[in-house]
Amino acid sequence: MTPNRSIRNILFVTSECYPLAKVGGLADVSSSLPRALATKGLNVVTLLPAYQGALTQLENTRALGAINGPLLMPDLSLIEGTVKQTGQRVWLLQAPGLYDRDGTPYADAYGHDWPDNWQRYAQLCRVACEIASGRVADWQPDLVHCNDWQTGLIPVLLKQASLAPPTLFTIHNLAYLGLFDGDIFSQLQLPPALWSFDALEFHGRFSYLKGGLGFADALTTVSPTYAKEIQTEDYGCGLDGLLRFRKKALTGILNGVDYETWNPETDPTIAFPYTSQSLTEKAKNKKHLQKKTGLAPKSNQPLIGLISRLVEQKGIDLIIDLMKAYADEPVQWVTLGNGNVDYERELKALAEAHPSAISFTPSYDEQLAHQIEAGADFFLMPSRYEPCGLNQMYSLRYGTVPIVTPTGGLADTIIHTTPGTLSKKQATGFVTKGADLPNLKQTFKHALNIYKDKAAWLKLRRTGMQQDFSWGKSAAAYLQLYEKIVNTG
Ligand code: ADP
Repeated sequence: MTPNRSIRNILFVTSECYPLAKVGGLADVSSSLPRALATKGLNVVTLLPAYQGALTQLENTRALGAINGPLLMPDLSLIEGTVKQTGQRVWLLQAPGLYDRDGTPYADAYGHDWPDNWQRYAQLCRVACEIASGRVADWQPDLVHCNDWQTGLIPVLLKQASLAPPTLFTIHNLAYLGLFDGDIFSQLQLPPALWSFDALEFHGRFSYLKGGLGFADALTTVSPTYAKEIQTEDYGCGLDGLLRFRKKALTGILNGVDYETWNPETDPTIAFPYTSQSLTEKAKNKKHLQKKTGLAPKSNQPLIGLISRLVEQKGIDLIIDLMKAYADEPVQWVTLGNGNVDYERELKALAEAHPSAISFTPSYDEQLAHQIEAGADFFLMPSRYEPCGLNQMYSLRYGTVPIVTPTGGLADTIIHTTPGTLSKKQATGFVTKGADLPNLKQTFKHALNIYKDKAAWLKLRRTGMQQDFSWGKSAAAYLQLYEKIVNTG
């Protein structure tokens, strides 16, 4: 029997990484999972594009030199460095004109996707393959961990190469397919045989994500419930058939929380640090937040928080309808987010009509996000689907009680409050029966009743604050999976 190959070097490829570039939860995971794996003795290199401003956030930088290879653009280079804020080791891919732009990683300042996203991420994938093949900086990974559609071509390309390391592909959100037309397929100069239903073709176009799902040696997604959901037609985004076909290779591993960044006891961005034993300090954060956002200083009214990308997935329309239904009730709302312009317009109008009860900040604001977690009483997250979700877990640690829908990671992390779960100190939040307004209203009413019951409310918050979703367990599950992949192929 051949002994198990131990695993040491991991190349973790991502399109976002906190604090260098963040659009959503992928950035948080790409920051904390590689660091958690490093504490388990792995040598992890995180590869991502050198977006605008990323380089200035590194220290101990070293040029790894130019990267040349077939179908690579001229003048590509890699810089190694350590993220000042977190200590994470990263390799940034520099490419003149490709990544260093105003806007988000994926879109311009007006929210329009960059028209050359196909090329921006194809280059990232091709460079990852050069590294995977041991042709860069005398270093070769034992496994390449890919994340979402932007990295979907890596498993495809590595399957064409000989002696390439195996790949793991993690689905953070199945809905982003990375879809492009046939002319882009031609420009990529991929083998023509890949334009087939069994490979990359997807209803007359082609999908980077499908490449990752079809060609990676193993697949994970970010919660056990989402792993099951995406194999159904309702949640499968047209890829459920492929996912059912690959179900033996697919597992759900819950994301963890970086409690160094999200901890009310040590959080430098909040005015009054607190623990589950000093919740009077949390009340001071509420007052501070009300003042900062222009809300009336009502200590006894429940304050509902929302921090989100404003997209249909997150049930923002349901939140807007709920706010309208409660507009004349003693409830306050503090909302932060950007995205869909219609949602932005509606939230702005509501805030203007009810300035002492509703606040809306239409931006991306890391500091305000922490202050909302610290100051709000409830956190609302009525997602239509939620691969894992991080904010409900952050909320638990901040004693901010989550109200969620029964889907994906929300179902896996929040225990609904009933007399039974409350008395057993299991209840951590409120879970609706479905992602629709009547169910949300019913659960919201129940939540407000518990808020009025001082003893129940204290118990609920304290139980939530004691939950432990740190990365240790999840990183151990990834490590075990890496070993399995490397040893079984
Ligand atoms: P998703 O990845 O689908 O956006 P998650 O709950 O997994 O959802 O992660 C969202 C992350 O992005 C959280 O860290 C959340 O605090 C952050 N976030 C979302 N919108 C904003 C915003 N407008 N300002 C600050 N942080 C935000």
